[in-house]
Amino acid sequence: MIERPCIRGCTVPGLHYAACESYGRSDGLCTGCVTAASRDDALVCGRCYGRLHRTLDRAPELVEHVRTLTGNVSAKRYDSEVSHGAAAHTRAPASADMLDAYRDVMATIGVSHLATLVTPESARTAAEGAVRELLAHFDQIANDADSFAQWWQIVVAQEVPTHPEFWTISRVLARWPLQDRRRWASAPCPACDLMSVSITPPARPLAPVWYSCTSCDWERNDRDDEGLWEALFGTREAS
Ligand SMILES: [Zn+2]
Ligand SMILES: [Zn+2]
Ligand SMILES: [Zn+2]
Repeated sequence: MIERPCIRGCTVPGLHYAACESYGRSDGLCTGCVTAASRDDALVCGRCYGRLHRTLDRAPELVEHVRTLTGNVSAKRYDSEVSHGAAAHTRAPASADMLDAYRDVMATIGVSHLATLVTPESARTAAEGAVRELLAHFDQIANDADSFAQWWQIVVAQEVPTHPEFWTISRVLARWPLQDRRRWASAPCPACDLMSVSITPPARPLAPVWYSCTSCDWERNDRDDEGLWEALFGTREAS
């Protein structure tokens, strides 16, 4: 089978073409130039596929988290009509940022009726429904270059160059981090053979378990390859 390169142009860490100045040595300037192969079922490599999917998986927990941090701000203020302008200047900056972040993440995943979501829990439940719907079509996104690039921009990228004020999901995660529940796998990476695979437990109901190597670009989930990786790395139970 002919390997198609990841459309995002990813390379494999530590792997070099023979013409590269770093070929055969470990002290070269190049960190890796051999292009990463795309997944059989997508236009992108396992790492890109996993990063976009995993970041969307975390959106429900994240909106609950940010919504909890904003505490007693009245639900009415979550409506977009008071988003910017004069009213914004009367609030503490952190709170205004949180409200903007909350609204932007909800807009990204397609939840609009924010004023009716009075509690952090109801916000999370609405987000879970929206993300489930979105990810039901994930393979379509992963097989459409434009669509994948657009989702990547508003979800995984730290900033949207044309709208630097926009809160991508990664930007919100970096600003108000969630608890890291990853743990190390007790089996080596199937690609590089190092003991450097991290296991990410499901971030929401029905979300996959992700297995990501931190030494190379290998990444799969518990549904890939007929459950082979779950059998190798362990069950869904978090330790
Ligand atoms: Zn190289
Ligand atoms: Zn890639
Ligand atoms: Zn590896």
